[in-house]
Amino acid sequence: MSNPAPIQGLPAAPGVAIGPLWIHWPDEVVVERAQARDADDEWRRILASIEQSRQQLNELRDMAEAKVGAEEAAIFEAHLMFLEDEEFISTIRQSVFSDRLTAEAGVEVAVAKYAEMLLALEDEYFRARAADLKDVGQRLMRNAGGGGSGARRALTQPSIIVADDLSPSETIQFERQFVLGICTMRGGPTSHVAILSRGLGVPAVVSAQVTLDASLDGVLAVLDGETGTLTIDPDGETIGAAQTRRAKWLSTRARAQSVAHEPAVTRDGARVEVVANIGNQRDAIAAMDNGAEGVGLFRTEFLFMDRASLPTEVEQIEAYGEIARILAGRPLVARMLDIGGDKPVPYLDIEHEDNPFLGWRAIRMLDRREDIYLTQFRALLRAGAETPDFKCDLRIMLPMVSTMLEIERGRELFERAQAQLRAEGLPFAEQTQFGIMVEVPSAALMAREFASQVDFFSIGTNDLTQYTLAVDRGNAKVASLASPYHPAVLRLIKMTIDAAHEHGKWCGLCGELGGDALAAPVLLGLGLDEFSMSPSAIPALKAAVRERSRTDCVEIARRALSLATTRQVIDYLSV
Ligand code: PEP
Ligand code: MG
Repeated sequence: MSNPAPIQGLPAAPGVAIGPLWIHWPDEVVVERAQARDADDEWRRILASIEQSRQQLNELRDMAEAKVGAEEAAIFEAHLMFLEDEEFISTIRQSVFSDRLTAEAGVEVAVAKYAEMLLALEDEYFRARAADLKDVGQRLMRNAGGGGSGARRALTQPSIIVADDLSPSETIQFERQFVLGICTMRGGPTSHVAILSRGLGVPAVVSAQVTLDASLDGVLAVLDGETGTLTIDPDGETIGAAQTRRAKWLSTRARAQSVAHEPAVTRDGARVEVVANIGNQRDAIAAMDNGAEGVGLFRTEFLFMDRASLPTEVEQIEAYGEIARILAGRPLVARMLDIGGDKPVPYLDIEHEDNPFLGWRAIRMLDRREDIYLTQFRALLRAGAETPDFKCDLRIMLPMVSTMLEIERGRELFERAQAQLRAEGLPFAEQTQFGIMVEVPSAALMAREFASQVDFFSIGTNDLTQYTLAVDRGNAKVASLASPYHPAVLRLIKMTIDAAHEHGKWCGLCGELGGDALAAPVLLGLGLDEFSMSPSAIPALKAAVRERSRTDCVEIARRALSLATTRQVIDYLSV
């Protein structure tokens, strides 16, 4: 049997899969007739298709939320927003009434025009939206009667799916029991398909140089989500080694799951807090099920997206209060609204920006919208008092802080909200801590000064990596550069933890790195107090902590931080 060299891609979700390949061919609708006979008929078909698409996307969003989580489900919100985009819809209308095109051709032309406009912006965020738009366009054409859906080949046996790319709707709709692994030719470790695979617990490799060929269908392969490789038609030895690795991966996972509710204590008795990143109530429940000791990052954005106007104070209290009740007195770190140029919210009038990640985002937006800022502080503080049976351990933090002025202003409003509530005689969580995220290099460099003004820090390594290395976190072309293992990022993490401890404050970490078992020894060695991560990563991280002694980790961290390259750090930690 042949044993060709493994095809190298980028690791996107851990685990090993062995099984037949299943080629996923794009399910594109081909427009057969462009000229319409009756424009009114065509327009009626489009309106019906929009309605049907809206229902399907709502269902997909719910399915994603149930199978994976709220953050991942937000991908479908972006699709729904195109259906609300008046300019897009009126472009379709024009194609039907002025150019006399059929419903399918009208959608195709409108999508092409819009996508061209988005792609011309040369901003990775908008380029990614163009791919979403294409996905929406295909759905609209299919629902208008353009065919395609009935002819789709079903996945009927456990397989490794290979595709040029997978849209979020395609990824979520496969029957989980038949998905052994996923390999795509496009995408980076932070692309939709990678995020969904991690949430589903399916090993995945992206950006793999595979040539899609029908003859590959059914051929046995080994996919390794740790090394980012796909080996097609492996020999017996390779299969044997992969079986051993797969069995080890599965048993380690099962073992970690069985003790997920035990605390994470190192061999030499140091206990660290292991908490969850959540986006809504369902995530909070998943966090508790996976052994989270609290919440280290509650992304409050979900309440502000997918709606036509700002949520009121009462609506916010209700949503936050529900989370506080699920946590039943465990620590709850809520982050103030992190919204801006990269996450369009129609009612906030956020203008297009050439560099949204460097623009009017998060705290910068809040600073100019005192109404939103103060209302959210009030709502969080009041929600903390909505739990009469236990005391809510609430902590509130500001996102994307880069200057002292932002902290001073934040604290002033935080205290003003409390003074107002006191004056109004309304109960609120009086012991609430006030902290900031450290996710901009200037905040890490100024951590000493900032530490004196706050109760805690939480390091956001996703943004800290992007801003330190000047790598757009959503751009697949530079994805391989965006590593939090870069010594520069690790040194900023150390500066932040040290500064917090010098001032007697605690320091957590809530970027993706927090849930990465490979990084655990370094973070333990640096003295991190709290690890926050997606709920599904908790059991394995706790297991990784239990395997180590903090004293040994101090030396591991010292060595790792003395290295000069990302590769050296990863190689050093991998042995
Ligand atoms: C981060 O930047 O690391 C972080 C946790 O925040 P977000 O991913 O929501 O930007
Ligand atoms: Mg961030």
